[in-house]
Amino acid sequence: MTIRALLASAFAFALVAPPTAAADLPVFDAHIHYSHDAWANLPPKAAIDVLRKAGIRRALVSSSGDEGTQRLVEAAPDLILPSLRPYRSRADVSTWVRDATVVPFLEDRLARHRYVAIGEFHVYGTDADLPVVRRAVELARANQLVLHAHGDADAIERLFRQDPTARILWAHSGFTDPASVRAMLAKHPNLWCDLAFRSDPGSGGKVAPEWRALFTEFPDRFLVGTDTFTPERWLYVGEHASWARGWLADLPAALAERIAWKNGEALFASVIAARRQ
Ligand SMILES: [Zn+2]
Repeated sequence: MTIRALLASAFAFALVAPPTAAADLPVFDAHIHYSHDAWANLPPKAAIDVLRKAGIRRALVSSSGDEGTQRLVEAAPDLILPSLRPYRSRADVSTWVRDATVVPFLEDRLARHRYVAIGEFHVYGTDADLPVVRRAVELARANQLVLHAHGDADAIERLFRQDPTARILWAHSGFTDPASVRAMLAKHPNLWCDLAFRSDPGSGGKVAPEWRALFTEFPDRFLVGTDTFTPERWLYVGEHASWARGWLADLPAALAERIAWKNGEALFASVIAARRQ
Protein backbone atom coordinates (compact mmCIF):
# COMPACT_ATOMS: atom_id res chain seq x y z
CA MET A 1 0.00 0.00 0.00
CA THR A 2 1.35 3.41 -0.92
CA ILE A 3 1.71 6.20 1.58
CA ARG A 4 -1.04 8.00 -0.26
CA ALA A 5 -3.36 4.98 0.06
CA LEU A 6 -2.50 4.62 3.74
CA LEU A 7 -3.30 8.25 4.34
CA ALA A 8 -6.51 7.91 2.36
CA SER A 9 -7.67 4.92 4.39
CA ALA A 10 -6.72 6.63 7.65
CA PHE A 11 -8.70 9.68 6.57
CA ALA A 12 -11.68 7.52 5.63
CA PHE A 13 -11.48 5.81 9.02
CA ALA A 14 -11.46 9.18 10.76
CA LEU A 15 -14.61 10.10 8.88
CA VAL A 16 -16.53 6.99 9.89
CA ALA A 17 -15.05 6.37 13.36
CA PRO A 18 -17.56 6.99 16.14
CA PRO A 19 -16.87 10.11 18.16
CA THR A 20 -14.73 9.25 21.15
CA ALA A 21 -13.40 12.68 22.10
CA ALA A 22 -14.70 13.93 25.42
CA ALA A 23 -15.76 17.13 23.67
CA ASP A 24 -18.38 15.12 21.77
CA LEU A 25 -19.83 13.32 24.77
CA PRO A 26 -23.61 13.41 24.73
CA VAL A 27 -25.05 14.50 28.05
CA PHE A 28 -28.14 13.28 29.89
CA ASP A 29 -29.03 16.28 32.04
CA ALA A 30 -30.86 14.90 35.05
CA HIS A 31 -31.71 18.20 36.67
CA ILE A 32 -33.57 20.75 34.55
CA HIS A 33 -36.41 22.98 35.74
CA TYR A 34 -38.54 25.15 33.47
CA SER A 35 -40.53 27.06 36.06
CA HIS A 36 -43.09 29.82 35.64
CA ASP A 37 -40.60 32.67 35.92
CA ALA A 38 -38.54 31.30 32.99
CA TRP A 39 -41.35 31.05 30.44
CA ALA A 40 -41.63 34.71 29.33
CA ASN A 41 -37.97 35.32 28.52
CA LEU A 42 -37.25 31.82 27.27
CA PRO A 43 -40.16 30.38 25.25
CA PRO A 44 -40.29 26.57 24.84
CA LYS A 45 -38.62 26.52 21.41
CA ALA A 46 -35.75 28.69 22.67
CA ALA A 47 -35.34 26.46 25.73
CA ILE A 48 -35.17 23.38 23.49
CA ASP A 49 -32.54 25.18 21.35
CA VAL A 50 -30.46 25.80 24.47
CA LEU A 51 -30.56 22.09 25.34
CA ARG A 52 -29.80 20.87 21.80
CA LYS A 53 -26.93 23.34 21.30
CA ALA A 54 -25.44 22.11 24.58
CA GLY A 55 -25.38 18.55 23.22
CA ILE A 56 -28.01 17.36 25.70
CA ARG A 57 -29.40 14.08 24.34
CA ARG A 58 -32.07 13.90 27.02
CA ALA A 59 -33.18 16.01 29.94
CA LEU A 60 -35.16 15.09 33.04
CA VAL A 61 -37.39 18.14 33.46
CA SER A 62 -39.59 19.19 36.34
CA SER A 63 -41.18 22.58 36.78
CA SER A 64 -43.10 24.79 39.17
CA GLY A 65 -45.80 24.58 37.78
CA ASP A 66 -46.03 21.51 35.69
CA GLU A 67 -47.29 23.44 32.65
CA GLY A 68 -43.65 24.36 31.89
CA THR A 69 -42.69 20.71 31.64
CA GLN A 70 -45.70 19.98 29.40
CA ARG A 71 -44.72 22.81 27.03
CA LEU A 72 -41.20 21.40 26.65
CA VAL A 73 -42.52 17.86 26.10
CA GLU A 74 -44.79 19.17 23.39
CA ALA A 75 -41.90 21.01 21.72
CA ALA A 76 -39.44 18.08 21.86
CA PRO A 77 -40.89 14.74 23.00
CA ASP A 78 -37.66 12.93 22.02
CA LEU A 79 -35.55 15.12 24.26
CA ILE A 80 -37.65 15.76 27.35
CA LEU A 81 -38.35 13.22 30.10
CA PRO A 82 -41.14 14.74 32.16
CA SER A 83 -41.07 14.57 35.94
CA LEU A 84 -44.07 15.69 38.00
CA ARG A 85 -43.07 18.27 40.57
CA PRO A 86 -45.50 18.66 43.48
CA TYR A 87 -45.15 22.46 43.24
CA ARG A 88 -47.73 24.62 41.51
CA SER A 89 -45.43 27.59 42.06
CA ARG A 90 -42.09 28.31 43.69
CA ALA A 91 -43.96 29.10 46.92
CA ASP A 92 -44.79 25.40 47.41
CA VAL A 93 -41.15 24.34 47.92
CA SER A 94 -41.17 24.45 51.71
CA THR A 95 -44.90 24.00 52.40
CA TRP A 96 -45.91 21.08 50.13
CA VAL A 97 -45.18 18.39 52.73
CA ARG A 98 -47.99 19.76 54.94
CA ASP A 99 -50.34 20.88 52.16
CA ALA A 100 -53.13 18.35 51.61
CA THR A 101 -54.16 20.06 48.36
CA VAL A 102 -50.96 18.75 46.77
CA VAL A 103 -52.41 15.22 46.70
CA PRO A 104 -55.36 15.94 44.34
CA PHE A 105 -52.99 18.07 42.25
CA LEU A 106 -50.64 15.10 41.78
CA GLU A 107 -53.50 12.68 41.13
CA ASP A 108 -55.05 14.99 38.55
CA ARG A 109 -51.77 15.51 36.67
CA LEU A 110 -50.97 11.79 36.73
CA ALA A 111 -54.39 11.06 35.25
CA ARG A 112 -53.89 13.58 32.44
CA HIS A 113 -50.20 13.28 31.49
CA ARG A 114 -47.42 10.71 31.36
CA TYR A 115 -44.32 11.06 33.47
CA VAL A 116 -41.13 9.17 34.26
CA ALA A 117 -40.69 10.51 37.79
CA ILE A 118 -42.19 12.44 40.68
CA GLY A 119 -39.95 15.27 41.82
CA GLU A 120 -37.72 17.05 42.23
CA PHE A 121 -39.18 17.63 45.68
CA HIS A 122 -37.54 18.82 48.88
CA VAL A 123 -37.95 16.81 52.06
CA TYR A 124 -35.90 16.48 55.22
CA GLY A 125 -35.84 14.07 58.16
CA THR A 126 -39.13 13.08 59.75
CA ASP A 127 -41.12 15.20 57.25
CA ALA A 128 -40.62 12.31 54.82
CA ASP A 129 -43.19 10.34 56.85
CA LEU A 130 -45.91 13.01 56.63
CA PRO A 131 -49.12 11.88 54.85
CA VAL A 132 -48.63 14.03 51.72
CA VAL A 133 -45.13 12.63 51.15
CA ARG A 134 -46.37 9.08 51.82
CA ARG A 135 -49.05 9.55 49.20
CA ALA A 136 -46.45 10.80 46.69
CA VAL A 137 -44.40 7.64 47.31
CA GLU A 138 -47.54 5.49 46.82
CA LEU A 139 -48.36 7.28 43.57
CA ALA A 140 -44.82 6.73 42.32
CA ARG A 141 -45.09 3.03 43.13
CA ALA A 142 -48.52 2.71 41.48
CA ASN A 143 -47.30 4.46 38.32
CA GLN A 144 -43.80 2.91 38.26
CA LEU A 145 -42.13 6.29 38.58
CA VAL A 146 -38.71 7.26 39.90
CA LEU A 147 -38.65 9.56 42.95
CA HIS A 148 -36.35 12.57 42.43
CA ALA A 149 -35.71 13.63 46.00
CA HIS A 150 -33.72 16.56 47.36
CA GLY A 151 -33.14 15.82 51.03
CA ASP A 152 -30.92 14.40 53.72
CA ALA A 153 -29.99 10.73 54.16
CA ASP A 154 -32.60 10.37 56.92
CA ALA A 155 -35.40 11.39 54.54
CA ILE A 156 -34.11 9.00 51.83
CA GLU A 157 -34.08 6.16 54.39
CA ARG A 158 -37.68 6.93 55.32
CA LEU A 159 -38.77 6.92 51.65
CA PHE A 160 -37.16 3.50 51.16
CA ARG A 161 -38.87 2.21 54.33
CA GLN A 162 -42.23 3.22 52.85
CA ASP A 163 -41.43 1.46 49.57
CA PRO A 164 -38.37 -0.83 49.58
CA THR A 165 -38.85 -1.29 45.81
CA ALA A 166 -38.71 2.47 45.11
CA ARG A 167 -36.17 3.81 42.65
CA ILE A 168 -34.80 7.05 44.06
CA LEU A 169 -32.67 9.64 42.30
CA TRP A 170 -30.96 11.55 45.10
CA ALA A 171 -30.71 15.16 43.99
CA HIS A 172 -27.26 16.73 44.44
CA SER A 173 -26.12 13.44 46.01
CA GLY A 174 -27.70 14.88 49.14
CA PHE A 175 -25.09 17.68 49.17
CA THR A 176 -23.22 15.33 51.46
CA ASP A 177 -19.66 14.00 51.63
CA PRO A 178 -18.38 11.04 49.57
CA ALA A 179 -18.23 8.70 52.58
CA SER A 180 -21.92 9.31 53.36
CA VAL A 181 -22.90 8.92 49.70
CA ARG A 182 -20.94 5.66 49.61
CA ALA A 183 -22.76 4.30 52.66
CA MET A 184 -26.14 5.06 51.09
CA LEU A 185 -25.24 3.54 47.70
CA ALA A 186 -23.87 0.40 49.36
CA LYS A 187 -27.05 0.01 51.40
CA HIS A 188 -29.61 0.81 48.66
CA PRO A 189 -29.19 -0.86 45.25
CA ASN A 190 -32.10 1.24 43.90
CA LEU A 191 -30.49 4.57 44.73
CA TRP A 192 -28.97 6.80 42.05
CA CYS A 193 -27.27 10.15 42.65
CA ASP A 194 -27.23 13.29 40.56
CA LEU A 195 -24.25 15.60 40.80
CA ALA A 196 -26.17 18.79 40.04
CA PHE A 197 -24.97 22.09 41.41
CA ARG A 198 -21.82 20.82 43.04
CA SER A 199 -18.23 21.17 41.91
CA ASP A 200 -16.44 19.08 44.53
CA PRO A 201 -16.71 15.75 42.60
CA GLY A 202 -15.11 17.20 39.48
CA SER A 203 -13.99 20.59 38.27
CA GLY A 204 -11.31 22.22 36.13
CA GLY A 205 -10.79 19.02 34.14
CA LYS A 206 -10.02 16.96 37.24
CA VAL A 207 -11.94 14.45 39.32
CA ALA A 208 -11.37 14.54 43.09
CA PRO A 209 -9.68 11.30 44.32
CA GLU A 210 -12.41 10.29 46.79
CA TRP A 211 -15.08 10.81 44.10
CA ARG A 212 -13.03 8.87 41.56
CA ALA A 213 -13.05 5.96 44.00
CA LEU A 214 -16.82 6.30 44.38
CA PHE A 215 -17.45 6.48 40.61
CA THR A 216 -15.23 3.42 40.13
CA GLU A 217 -17.01 1.44 42.84
CA PHE A 218 -20.51 2.48 41.65
CA PRO A 219 -20.12 3.19 37.92
CA ASP A 220 -23.86 2.78 37.21
CA ARG A 221 -25.25 5.11 39.85
CA PHE A 222 -24.23 8.69 39.03
CA LEU A 223 -25.78 11.25 36.66
CA VAL A 224 -24.87 14.86 35.89
CA GLY A 225 -27.28 17.80 35.89
CA THR A 226 -27.33 21.57 35.61
CA ASP A 227 -30.17 22.52 37.98
CA THR A 228 -31.88 25.49 36.35
CA PHE A 229 -33.51 26.48 39.64
CA THR A 230 -33.70 30.12 38.57
CA PRO A 231 -34.29 31.46 35.03
CA GLU A 232 -30.70 32.80 34.87
CA ARG A 233 -29.36 29.28 35.26
CA TRP A 234 -30.59 28.53 31.72
CA LEU A 235 -27.68 30.67 30.51
CA TYR A 236 -25.28 28.08 31.95
CA VAL A 237 -26.73 24.90 30.42
CA GLY A 238 -24.18 24.88 27.58
CA GLU A 239 -21.35 25.96 29.83
CA HIS A 240 -22.29 23.31 32.37
CA ALA A 241 -22.28 20.55 29.74
CA SER A 242 -18.82 21.63 28.50
CA TRP A 243 -17.54 21.91 32.05
CA ALA A 244 -18.87 18.43 32.90
CA ARG A 245 -17.26 16.98 29.75
CA GLY A 246 -14.02 18.56 30.95
CA TRP A 247 -13.82 16.73 34.26
CA LEU A 248 -15.43 13.56 32.89
CA ALA A 249 -12.46 13.37 30.47
CA ASP A 250 -10.28 12.73 33.52
CA LEU A 251 -12.06 9.33 33.92
CA PRO A 252 -11.68 6.21 31.75
CA ALA A 253 -13.82 6.74 28.62
CA ALA A 254 -16.33 3.98 29.43
CA LEU A 255 -16.94 5.36 32.92
CA ALA A 256 -17.23 8.93 31.62
CA GLU A 257 -19.88 7.80 29.11
CA ARG A 258 -21.89 6.12 31.83
CA ILE A 259 -21.96 9.19 34.05
CA ALA A 260 -22.48 11.57 31.12
CA TRP A 261 -25.55 9.81 29.68
CA LYS A 262 -25.72 6.02 29.78
CA ASN A 263 -26.75 5.79 33.44
CA GLY A 264 -29.63 8.20 32.84
CA GLU A 265 -30.78 6.21 29.82
CA ALA A 266 -30.54 2.95 31.76
CA LEU A 267 -32.38 4.27 34.81
CA PHE A 268 -35.31 5.53 32.76
CA ALA A 269 -35.28 2.81 30.07
CA SER A 270 -38.04 0.75 31.66
CA VAL A 271 -40.14 3.83 32.32
CA ILE A 272 -39.56 5.08 28.77
CA ALA A 273 -40.56 1.68 27.37
CA ALA A 274 -43.74 1.72 29.47
CA ARG A 275 -44.58 5.24 28.18
CA ARG A 276 -44.38 4.03 24.57
CA GLN A 277 -46.91 1.24 25.12
ZN1 LIG B 1 -33.46 21.39 41.51
